[in-house]
Amino acid sequence: MKRSLDHVAGSLEELRRGSLYRSLRYGRAEGPRITLDGRTMINLGSNDYLGARGQVHGGPRSASSRLVAGNDDSYRALEGMLAAHLSAESALVYPTGYMASLGVIPVLGVAGCTIFSDERNHASIIDACRLAGGRTAVFGHNDVDGLDRMLSDTEGDALVVTEGIFSMDGDYSDLRGIVEAASRRGAAVIVDDAHGDFVAGPEGRGTAHMFGVSGEIYATISSLSKALGAFGGYVAADNPVTDLQVNRSRPFMYTSALPPVLVHDAISRMGADLEARRNLLRHNTRRISDGLDDMGFGPASGTHIIPVIIGGEQDAVEFSRILAENGVYAPAIRYPTVPRREARIRVSVTASLDDSDIDTVLAAFEEGRRRVYRS
Ligand code: PMP
Repeated sequence: MKRSLDHVAGSLEELRRGSLYRSLRYGRAEGPRITLDGRTMINLGSNDYLGARGQVHGGPRSASSRLVAGNDDSYRALEGMLAAHLSAESALVYPTGYMASLGVIPVLGVAGCTIFSDERNHASIIDACRLAGGRTAVFGHNDVDGLDRMLSDTEGDALVVTEGIFSMDGDYSDLRGIVEAASRRGAAVIVDDAHGDFVAGPEGRGTAHMFGVSGEIYATISSLSKALGAFGGYVAADNPVTDLQVNRSRPFMYTSALPPVLVHDAISRMGADLEARRNLLRHNTRRISDGLDDMGFGPASGTHIIPVIIGGEQDAVEFSRILAENGVYAPAIRYPTVPRREARIRVSVTASLDDSDIDTVLAAFEEGRRRVYRS
């Protein structure tokens, strides 16, 4: 059963009792007017001090936080689509995925709560844990047994945070094992699926759907700026978690809303049929993975993010330079993004590559292998 954190309902109740509960009102700000819940009024909630925004290229820009005058009607449609996409009760859009992480993790991981974070989690999760009032305990990468032991040694509310597909290693999280360990202990699970969303699982519904555990995930953090090809971030969760973010999430409350033009862009991409692109991505991933395996760089990660581990930092930079000489850009990723002596070339496969591009990529890697390893 999906676990809810004890403090969430209590916090919402406390906000209501103190007349501090905030809820979003949808509308549209245009010039000096705002229409909210069907009533058009003079807008004294705008930061467009010079009236300079107007109807600029691509549609209106936001000039306020969503809780003030920036909650354009289009958000309702996008958040409804995102909630349906992940089979969640609701979704909340943030200006970026990074901010979504900084928003939701501190709201849930409050003082008295322990946040269990995979050692390979992305910088945005690490920073979010640092901002949270709760204590952070780091567990070994995908080490479910270790996590299990740590969970059973810890009192109070517990929150486990993992990525769906890890951004630098390209491997899937052991989401089934994590969900099982968490449910034995009554811990809530958060997945940052920035790299799996719109790619993995049936209809691109992400890693949790792929593993059949979407009903057990307490909150999903994701980005609209990766596979969807739009811009922004979001958190999908049950209504109380969304309501608490609206009231407590500082990166949600105290920044300008993502502009409606980008909300409309995300809506139109959500409506597009991405299945053909996912099939192409799978084809390209298989070709590049097999080619790298044949050169001895395997086993590949099994996803569209393929780390080619070089080891030494200098060799990785040299390898990346040889790739560039051969017409291929793939960055060398070094400490502190990855551990020391695990420098790598991070290959990010896309559906846009054609077969001849892939021939060029594989030839460039072959050249890199020959020159860096002199073999
Ligand atoms: N989570 C993970 C795992 C990421 O890799 C990234 C971006 N690299 C983010 C979150 C942040 O997403 P955004 O670019 O939308 O801020």
